[in-house]
Amino acid sequence: MNCKEALPLIHEYLDGDLQGAETLQLKEHLISCTACHALFRELERTDAIVRSLPSVHVSDTLTAQIMSGLPPMKKRNVWTEWIRRHPAVSVAVVFAAVMFGSFMSMWNDDKNLMVKGSDLQDVVIQGDTVIVPQGHTVNGDLVVQRGKLQVDGDVTGNLTVIDGSLNLASTAHISGQVTQVDEAISWIWYKLNEFVGMLSK
Ligand SMILES: [Zn+2]
Repeated sequence: MNCKEALPLIHEYLDGDLQGAETLQLKEHLISCTACHALFRELERTDAIVRSLPSVHVSDTLTAQIMSGLPPMKKRNVWTEWIRRHPAVSVAVVFAAVMFGSFMSMWNDDKNLMVKGSDLQDVVIQGDTVIVPQGHTVNGDLVVQRGKLQVDGDVTGNLTVIDGSLNLASTAHISGQVTQVDEAISWIWYKLNEFVGMLSK
């Protein structure tokens, strides 16, 4: 077995879908190939992080509510199929998973205002209030976390407010989507969507 053949089998193994003979062949390859072995460990760790998430952060009831609002659970297999067709991108998936891990500590530790965007020169910050003044334009996306966002001017991209408040004046004009995220779990889905968007570029 070569590395190209091993990769989809690793994903099937972690999904619990791999049959006896193939499991044996995969294990033989993992013993002889350090690169695949390292990738296997990384993906196994990712799997554990993803599995541990809901129970750490939200109650069972909320988890059930969120799960019922999600697309059917066929999702994992879609990913496996996708990775099978794009083996080279698996490294990027691992990268995303590592970022995902570091984000979790960010959520817990960082209590301060965060403003993210590609064009922030016209944005005014007063205390925990972020203002897009009337007659001014923010080019691209604007993300505000743990603050009050007051938009009197224009935003040409998407507007995202995480764990904060949003006030759109009558003079405000947002060309993209406006999203307000209040729960840690929604932020995770927001982050995941961002990664999936990043990977498909
Ligand atoms: Zn290999």
